Amino acid sequence: MVTAFPSPPPLSPPASLAERQDVVVVGAGIIGLACAAYLQEAGRQVLVIDSKGVAEGASKANAGGLALSDILPLASPRTLRQVPRWFFDPLGPLSLPIGYLPRMLPWLLRFVYASRPAQVTRSIAALADLMALSRAENPKLWALAGAEDKLRPTGSLQLYDGAGSFRRAAASWELRKAHGIAFEHLQDDDLHHFQPGLSSAFRHGTHVPSWEMVSDPYEVTLLLAEAIQGRGAVLAKAQAMAVKPGPDGVQLSLGCGRTLAAAQIVLAAGAWSRPLAKGLGDRIPLETERGYNTTLENPAIILERQLIFGDHGFVVSPLSSGLRVGGGDELAGLDAPPNYARARTMLTKAKGFLPDLNTEGGIEWMGHRPSLPDSLPVIGHSAATSRVVYAFGHAHLGLTQAAATARLVRDLVAGTPAPINLAPLRPGRF
Ligand SMILES: Cc1cc2nc3c(=O)[nH]c(=O)nc-3n(C[C@H](O)[C@H](O)[C@H](O)COP(=O)(O)OP(=O)(O)OC[C@H]3O[C@@H](n4cnc5c(N)ncnc54)[C@H](O)[C@@H]3O)c2cc1C
Repeated sequence: MVTAFPSPPPLSPPASLAERQDVVVVGAGIIGLACAAYLQEAGRQVLVIDSKGVAEGASKANAGGLALSDILPLASPRTLRQVPRWFFDPLGPLSLPIGYLPRMLPWLLRFVYASRPAQVTRSIAALADLMALSRAENPKLWALAGAEDKLRPTGSLQLYDGAGSFRRAAASWELRKAHGIAFEHLQDDDLHHFQPGLSSAFRHGTHVPSWEMVSDPYEVTLLLAEAIQGRGAVLAKAQAMAVKPGPDGVQLSLGCGRTLAAAQIVLAAGAWSRPLAKGLGDRIPLETERGYNTTLENPAIILERQLIFGDHGFVVSPLSSGLRVGGGDELAGLDAPPNYARARTMLTKAKGFLPDLNTEGGIEWMGHRPSLPDSLPVIGHSAATSRVVYAFGHAHLGLTQAAATARLVRDLVAGTPAPINLAPLRPGRF
C-alpha cells in the first residue's frame, strides 16, 4: 500500500523575513535541513531558504538507501575500467551528450586524476570516516526529524552478471572487510532462496546486512522540515543570488532584491552551489551526475531489501511510495531537459532481471546529483570568510552522509574541533 506523505510545510515569503538573521541555510534538501536541525539543536536561530521548495532537488526521489558500507569512491581504476563498456553501450548506465563534453572535460580529467591509487586510498579513508560518523549520528538526526520509525534495517543484495563480474568484485569486498564491513556471498540455490523472484540467469550475489533504508526520501525530508519549523526555524521560498562578507557577518542578496545580514551562512544548494561559492572567490569543480528512476505503485512483486545491479548502474528499492527502479549517470549539466528514455531503459532491464515485475504505470523522475571529481563532498569554510560554511557535493550518497555532514557543519559553525579529519573534504583541495 502506498503511504500518504505529510504536506510540504508552508514557506514564508521573502518580504516577511527580518533583515538581520542568525544562521541562514541556503538549500532545503536533505543536507541543508539536516544542518539546520543540528544548528537549531545547538541553540541557533535558523532561517532555511530554497528557491523551489522543500526537497524539490535531488533529495526528492532518490533511492532511499543509507548505504553505510559504500566506502569505495566512484573515482577509481575500477570505474575507469568499466567506462568504455558503459559508454559505448546505448543501454548502459553512462551517457555524455557530445555537446556537453567540452564543459565536462575539466571535471573528467580531474576524475581520472583522482582515480590514481594514492588518492583512492585517501578517499576510502575519508569515506570510511564519514560513514562511521553518519552511523553514529543517524539515530540523533532521525530523532530530530521525529522519523525514527521510518528507518528500516533491510540490508542490501548486490547482484553480478556472471562469475567473471563476481570475481572482479572480490578485491573491493576485501577492502570493505578491512574496514570492518560484514557481508555474505551467496550462490545458486542459496541466492534464489534468499531472494525469490530473480531471473535464473543470476548465480552470484553479496548480501550486506548493515545497509539500511528510509521509508521514502521525500517523506523523511518533509518530516525533518516540519520538525524544525515546529521548533521555531523559519523556512522561506527565496533564491540566494550572492553571498558577500559584510562588516559584522555576511550579506546575502536574494532574487527578490532584498539583502539580509546573517551572522553565519551554510551553503547547501546541492548541484547549484558552484556560482555562489565562485562569487566568494572559491573555485570548486562541482558538476552534476543526473540520475533517473521510475516509481511503480503496483509492481506486482514484494521486495524486502534494495537490489543493486552494479553491472548496469541501477538499483531497485522498495519504498512506501512504491517500488523504485533507477540510477544511471548522465553527464549533461543543469539545464538540459530530461531524457526519460534513460529511465525506461533501466525499467526494461529490471523486467528481465525480475520477470514478475509489473512495469506499467510508473512515475518517472530525474534528479541532479551534486558531484565533485574525487567522489568526496565539500565540507568546510569558504576561503573568503569563516562565516560561510560549505556543505555540498555529496553525489550518490547525500542521504547517507546527511547526519555526518550536519554534525561537522555544526562544529564548523561553532568553531569546535571536528570528530574526523576534515582535510580531504576542504573546499580548497582542488
Ligand atoms: C537517482 C538517484 C538516486 C540516489 N540514491 C541515493 C541513495 O539511495 N542514497 C543516498 O545517500 N543518496 C542517493 N542519491 C544522492 C542524493 O539524492 C543526493 O546526494 C542528495 O539528495 C543531495 O542533497 P542536497 O541537499 O545537497 O541537494 P538537493 O536535494 O538537490 O537540495 C539542494 C536545494 O538547494 C536549492 N537551491 C539551489 N540553488 C539555490 C539558490 N540559489 N537559492 C536557494 N535555494 C537554492 C534547490 O532548490 C534544492 O532544493 C541519489 C541521487 C539520485 C539522482
